Amino acid sequence: MPDRLGQHAIVVGGSIAGLMAARVLTDFFDQVTVFDRDPIEAGSAVHKSVPQGNHLHALMLGGQQVLSSLYPGFTDRLQVLGAIRFRFGKEAAFFFPGGKSYTPTGSVREPRDLGIDGYSQSRGLLEYCVRQCTVELTNLRFEGGTAVQGLTYEHGQVRGVRLNREGGAESVAADLVVDAGGRGSRAPRWLTEMGFRAPEESSIGCDFAYTSAKFRTPANYDGPEKVMLFGGPPPKYTSGAGIGQIENDTWMVSLAGRFGVYPPSDEDGFFAFAKSLPTRRFYDLIKDAERISDIFHHRFPTSVQRHYERLTAFPERFVVLGDAISSFNPVYGQGMSSAALQVRALQYLLRERATAPKADALAGLGAAYFPKAAEVIASPWILAASSDFAYPQTTGERPPNMEDGARYFGALDSIVAEDPAVHRLLVEVFQLARPLWDLTAEPLRSRVIARQEELVAKKTA
Ligand SMILES: Cc1cc2nc3c(=O)[nH]c(=O)nc-3n(C[C@H](O)[C@H](O)[C@H](O)COP(=O)(O)OP(=O)(O)OC[C@H]3O[C@@H](n4cnc5c(N)ncnc54)[C@H](O)[C@@H]3O)c2cc1C
Repeated sequence: MPDRLGQHAIVVGGSIAGLMAARVLTDFFDQVTVFDRDPIEAGSAVHKSVPQGNHLHALMLGGQQVLSSLYPGFTDRLQVLGAIRFRFGKEAAFFFPGGKSYTPTGSVREPRDLGIDGYSQSRGLLEYCVRQCTVELTNLRFEGGTAVQGLTYEHGQVRGVRLNREGGAESVAADLVVDAGGRGSRAPRWLTEMGFRAPEESSIGCDFAYTSAKFRTPANYDGPEKVMLFGGPPPKYTSGAGIGQIENDTWMVSLAGRFGVYPPSDEDGFFAFAKSLPTRRFYDLIKDAERISDIFHHRFPTSVQRHYERLTAFPERFVVLGDAISSFNPVYGQGMSSAALQVRALQYLLRERATAPKADALAGLGAAYFPKAAEVIASPWILAASSDFAYPQTTGERPPNMEDGARYFGALDSIVAEDPAVHRLLVEVFQLARPLWDLTAEPLRSRVIARQEELVAKKTA
């Protein structure tokens, strides 16, 4: 058991990132308090500040692994609550105009058991499971319906939070405050109120929208796939859809579109959009299915990254994580896993400090943490940006050397088609279980470059 780092830590926001962060903090602080402004129902439900919970929410392998390390037996609990286990490579598939495949490029046509389990469930169920696992910790208190209004600050240090309770304004002291307030985090404003600079932002104008509803899984559905994605390669196709088998014999169905091709939220429009997709398979699957929820629409104009790691001055005893640092185009399903990896980075740092204690073990925590968080965010950010900028309408800063990257990836993809081990590696990288750089590490790199040369020679022959 590591040494304690303080008496009390506070987490602002009790959604996915806040709950995981709180779990980590219970190892290092006598008491941890989580405040969420939403009154949170007991049970699996979407709460007001997380409207994205009404849409497809895939838990990537990277997030699954962190959750399993934080909460032993996590995936078993998830399954007991109704989550559906599926196998990558054979029970999750892409349906494009060229037919069914097991990679988004269509390079693998036959099912292949990659030996990796995924879990499919609604966002509400996932968050409920994480919350259950977290609130049962004896040194943790979860208070819903309580918005944090601001931070208390003295002599360069955050000292706690300010709340507005029914009885009036109140301050609660803490040795560390973690902001996991999501994309709308007030941390930039709180920093300027304390006399610091707000972080610079990078953004990618992906101009994306989802329209979603739940359907009863059709009784006559007997396909092997539990997760299905439909669409076509960019930049020609700007619309697509997804179906995830979730708890209670339900399909979570999301339509997706970009650049003005937004899926409508009325029933007739929903089905008309479904019919217009690059592949007919999706419409055929849902046309006679029973809709069992309202239809929800969500626009997502920009991915945003806040560069806390570039700040040269930052208050002591305060860190920010999750969507509050980086919020990604949802179509790639990265947000929760990126948050999980940021929490793990914080955990490692706190562990280091707890095992080599100094006079003030929390000194400079933000300065040490933000570069680590930025490192974690780099892989999903580049992966998402590379896909988004395949559309010329996308605005923002393009990643450097995109054309070289696309050529490298094309050659890698042709190796994936013939080598299941490289296919597995690709899935692990796309699922944030390994960093992007693993795709350019030796000996794979030399193999890909040789393949690139072969492909060029073939083209010019
Ligand atoms: C349409 C859509 C689909 C998505 N699909 C996926 C997917 O498939 N896979 C995936 O991994 N990710 C997906 N994401 C991203 C994912 O939802 C987020 O990355 C994830 O929810 C981030 O968690 P978070 O805890 O940082 O923030 P949030 O989930 O946004 O939670 C922030 C919490 O902070 C609370 N809060 C805010 N301010 C205060 C305050 N001042 N005081 C107290 N409480 C406060 C809010 O009430 C809220 O509960 C999707 C996003 C969208 C928009």
